[in-house]
Amino acid sequence: MSRRLVVLGAPGAGKGTQAARISEHLGIPTISTGALFRSHMAARDELGTLVAGYIDAGNLVPDEVTTRMVAERLAEPDVVEGFILDGYPRNLAQAEQLDVMLADRPLDAVVEFVVDTEAVVERLLRRAEIEGRSDDTADVIRHRIEVYHENTAPLVDHYRGRGLLLEVDAMGQIDDVTERTLAALENA
Ligand code: AMP
Repeated sequence: MSRRLVVLGAPGAGKGTQAARISEHLGIPTISTGALFRSHMAARDELGTLVAGYIDAGNLVPDEVTTRMVAERLAEPDVVEGFILDGYPRNLAQAEQLDVMLADRPLDAVVEFVVDTEAVVERLLRRAEIEGRSDDTADVIRHRIEVYHENTAPLVDHYRGRGLLLEVDAMGQIDDVTERTLAALENA
């Protein structure tokens, strides 16, 4: 079973939810760059203050800042059995930086959660009501989807070309998506 994983998907594809479930199933940690940034913002520490403007506007935090945070996290001992990266890499430059970080322990698979964009906007607006995330307003959601298509979507072809991509239909019930994902990973 694959252990070093990346999850990809447009905002609202449910990758955070699925990453948490797969993580529990496989007994490996999820490293979510968005969640890490949000906890720094909540703590109002130096990194949180630095990234808040980018996140609230739906823009990417500069690669250098993000990559340093991920490199530090990947140096911690709990990732030896594997990990799920949720939200990183977000562009081709980060994908290259990740390869450098993982030189002696390369990725096993990249899961893409495939959704239809309109359904995603509705999902995110619902999440905004529940979680109250500062970047879940309608305008920022649309901008984040554009940023995804422009910067992150090219990673799908990048990883497909390397034979790492597993595409999972992420529409429908959360449990069904989890099952499809685990099946895809088992068959990989
Ligand atoms: P997420 O929770 O993955 O939707 O991320 C929320 C926000 O955090 C994004 O809209 C970006 O502003 C920022 N962010 C998360 N991951 C990255 C990354 N790998 N590179 C740059 N910015 C990121």
